[in-house]
Amino acid sequence: MSLPLETEITLPNGVQFSQPTGLFINNEFIKSKAGKTFESINPSTGEVNATVYEALDEDVDYAVNCAEKALPEWKKLTGVARGLLLNKIADELEQNREFYGAVEAWDSGKNFKKNAVFDIDECISCFRYYAGWADKVTGKVIQNDPKKLAYTVHEPIGIIGQIVPWNYPMAMSSWKLAPALAAGNVVILKTSEITPLSMLVVAKLFKKVGFPAGVVNIISGYGASAGNALTRHPKVHKIAFTGSTAIGKLIQKTAADTMKLVTLECGGKSPMIIRQDAELDQAIKWAAIGIMSNQGQICTANSRIYVHESAYDEFCKSLVDHVKSKYKQGLMFDKDCIVGPQVSKMQHDKILKYLDIGKQEGAKVLLGGEKNTEGELSKGFFIKPTIFADVRPDMRIVQEEIFGPVVSIAKFSNDDEAIQLANCTQYGLAASIFTKDLVAAHSMAGKIESGMVWINSSNDEDVRIPFGGVKQSGIGRELGEYGLDMYTQAKAIHVNLGTRL
Ligand code: NAD
Repeated sequence: MSLPLETEITLPNGVQFSQPTGLFINNEFIKSKAGKTFESINPSTGEVNATVYEALDEDVDYAVNCAEKALPEWKKLTGVARGLLLNKIADELEQNREFYGAVEAWDSGKNFKKNAVFDIDECISCFRYYAGWADKVTGKVIQNDPKKLAYTVHEPIGIIGQIVPWNYPMAMSSWKLAPALAAGNVVILKTSEITPLSMLVVAKLFKKVGFPAGVVNIISGYGASAGNALTRHPKVHKIAFTGSTAIGKLIQKTAADTMKLVTLECGGKSPMIIRQDAELDQAIKWAAIGIMSNQGQICTANSRIYVHESAYDEFCKSLVDHVKSKYKQGLMFDKDCIVGPQVSKMQHDKILKYLDIGKQEGAKVLLGGEKNTEGELSKGFFIKPTIFADVRPDMRIVQEEIFGPVVSIAKFSNDDEAIQLANCTQYGLAASIFTKDLVAAHSMAGKIESGMVWINSSNDEDVRIPFGGVKQSGIGRELGEYGLDMYTQAKAIHVNLGTRL
């Protein structure tokens, strides 16, 4: 018997809704051609949340062809009209903020009140921000010779394949969809096989608010099949990817065969530097937010902290006390909790392996360092918030992205040493510096190899400000005007105003 296209769900908080299970292509939910399906697992319980249809090559091909048909009309629409549609998506999300937050929590294991609804707020801001840009995509007039008028038109790139991870299923999708649509592109977005559910619920909105069929297509599937098919497809003009550095490299190689544009938002191992003159209580609060929220599944997580030797012992002790008292673990609808389960058994097992590696490498465990087996949490993928101290730059827990609630701390004795330690990995996504010395702050920000630097805060990104990495953390930027630029290409028009041959 084939899977129905909707399944009735009752969330632990009592909310009831119909979960779409099909592929959202051409404004319809449809079964995959081969009828293949896969299960999405609840991170808190290890049980099946829902089963959905899986896209394979022929489904990707169908989605691309529908997008291709939609492109000419969509390109002709005015920027104002595109902006109105994007604003309507923001309105829908805003009116039902708590509902979408609950679905996102259920799909990914995030705490509903302390985590998931903030993600919905970010989606709303992102759609509103790019709605504002939709009628402001303009080129330049280039004047040199009075006999020649030259100008540029910023055209949409065309058919965009977007591939997103599981750590912020809705927010990462919004960061990609909103600028691409504002600039006049059509999109096929592949969600992560680990969290396919929330974006299928959001998919309904695109039809509801009036997006033409084929402009937005949202498919569930695995990376090696659906993701790869999208990356290889000759009609897809660009791949915008967020995920691990290893897969980012693979995508860049595969996309080269058809010379697609790529933007890659990849992994990180972001350092936080705490100078001797820092306000320690502020540094402690931001450090904890930047590694323990979202279960540490944050690409810009400040997973390495370097503290001046004069403040090292006090910082370590206070961070342990702060995390112990403020970062309680629990189920997604528990009001007092912040730290939920890791998203999947695979991530959970990977993190446990890193905890063993850290101990074997000689790092000192100040907090956690193990699975949480208390009561009902034992059924889910819960890892205790973990603080390692006295780490060395050569340790694997310092060099490699763990992507969990695990932080490593070491000391430094001067600013040059701090910069050297901060720059000692292959990654270059983000960094933060805590100090009251303005000159030191700005000069250190200039020396750190990263796409973003926070001074006296951490991880408080903003949809108006560009986001992205250097080194092996990625290529290109999302958010802000820079993020919009990634979805247009300049066409130069030369007009002869007087040269007669
Ligand atoms: P992942 O690389 O395993 O998967 C990301 C996406 O790529 C998924 O949709 C997956 O199905 C797809 N994929 C996998 N193999 C593919 C292939 N061969 N071809 C095409 N697509 C393929 O990453 P993940 O585990 O889902 O997410 C965690 C990673 O994402 C971390 O490394 C994290 O740092 C990174 N991340 C980066 C940012 C950023 O903005 N820099 C933001 C969020 C997450």
